[in-house]
Amino acid sequence: MRILILGGTAEARALAQGLAARDEFAVTVSLAGRTAEPLPQAAPVRTGGFGGAEGLARYLRDKQVDLMIDATHPYAAAISANAARAADSAGVSLLALRRPPWRKVTGDDWTEVESVEEAVSALGDRSKRVFLALGRKELQPFVAAPQHIYLVRSVDSVDPPLAVPHASYIAARGPFSEDGDRALFARHNIEVIVAKNSGGEASYGKIGAARALRLPVIMLKRPALPEVASVATVQEVLAFLDHALTPSTARGV
Ligand code: NAP
Repeated sequence: MRILILGGTAEARALAQGLAARDEFAVTVSLAGRTAEPLPQAAPVRTGGFGGAEGLARYLRDKQVDLMIDATHPYAAAISANAARAADSAGVSLLALRRPPWRKVTGDDWTEVESVEEAVSALGDRSKRVFLALGRKELQPFVAAPQHIYLVRSVDSVDPPLAVPHASYIAARGPFSEDGDRALFARHNIEVIVAKNSGGEASYGKIGAARALRLPVIMLKRPALPEVASVATVQEVLAFLDHALTPSTARGV
């Protein structure tokens, strides 16, 4: 079975690891190519955009892909939409691996917003010390609020830096612990956190730390994603594949 994993997440990497050693699967991982130093993958990697849904459909046909697994980040909405359209037009099966979002629990002070621009407005006029857990490409709207003092944490360094007078940067890849993030927020006197509802364990530290320190979180809502068959964990994908490979007679069908 030829499988294309649309990756860029810890889950995609774990899935490739889980499938690489199995002879019945020929796996390729696709990365967008945004990260300067991507982590190594257990399966062959192709890098860069496909050229929209049409380009992806062409790739699926050319490579005779049997199954595409969209294991991209929940905020990577464009590639997920392309995957749904391409799977449809190339007649290839598609399974999405989507982390469930974090749910608010007692002690959380979240303001949910639809866009980064709305997050900027929600910060208010008074100068605040703000922790931005956002990717490079989401930062630009904060230039409209130069009164704040920003601490930005992203996987890749922010270059050029934001055109605001007070910003410092941490280039780091998770997982991040709650204790570590709590210490970080205390050290920088952080007053408010801006985050995406990524789900999963690796970046939940900041949410737990905000709760412990009673800090408000401005939470960017998830983008709408296409309705396709989906599962929540790597284990569920593996179970799905095992089921797909079991002859129907063995399943009593
Ligand atoms: P996006 O807005 O959904 O995608 C923009 C374009 O990038 C797509 O149209 C596609 O170009 C290309 N692309 C995206 N993912 C790709 C992949 N896995 N393989 C090949 N091309 C890909 O995506 P994004 O939000 O920029 O995220 C880019 C990558 O970073 C994703 O793979 C995602 O899993 C990872 N990531 C994103 C976030 C986030 O918060 N957005 C966080 C962590 C990791 P073409 O149209 O030319 O095919």
